[in-house]
Amino acid sequence: MRRAIFPGSFDPITLGHVDIINRALPLFDEIIIAIGINADKKYMFSLKERVNFIKENYKNEPKIKVLTYTGLTTDFCEKVNVDFILRGLRNPADFEFEKAIAQTNRKLSGIETVFLLTSADTAFISSSIVRDVFRHGGDITKFVPKSVSKK
Ligand code: ADP
Repeated sequence: MRRAIFPGSFDPITLGHVDIINRALPLFDEIIIAIGINADKKYMFSLKERVNFIKENYKNEPKIKVLTYTGLTTDFCEKVNVDFILRGLRNPADFEFEKAIAQTNRKLSGIETVFLLTSADTAFISSSIVRDVFRHGGDITKFVPKSVSKK
């Protein structure tokens, strides 16, 4: 079985994440969407809300699981016995950042990170901008799946 985790904050999940997940589905037998809990980070949506947004969006997709974790991503990969980390790349800044993390993770545990380039029509979407639009009463329906916008 080829299994991967897609780690992130998903605060909230956006159509950019959905694009990466949907395009990775044919590559893996199972994808665990892993919401990392960082005690130093302030989140807009509660952990329960973030989990439910993703679960609802993928309720008819048996290859997707949603879990939460604390600590090192590589430790979590060992715990759930996956061989790949999935990440999305939007721009050169993502690349520089992700390169260092992927190389660190490979040194730590030998795990491989698989990158997918974002689709042109969702490359500009980020959870932080979505949060800003939402905070100021703007319409976020064009940037997030229905499970988020209906909330
Ligand atoms: P983190 O807190 O780790 O940055 P995010 O939830 O923001 O978590 O992102 C998780 C993953 O999704 C990262 O690999 C990120 O590059 C990717 N991602 C975020 N937004 C997009 C997008 N619009 N298109 C493609 N990938 C994206």
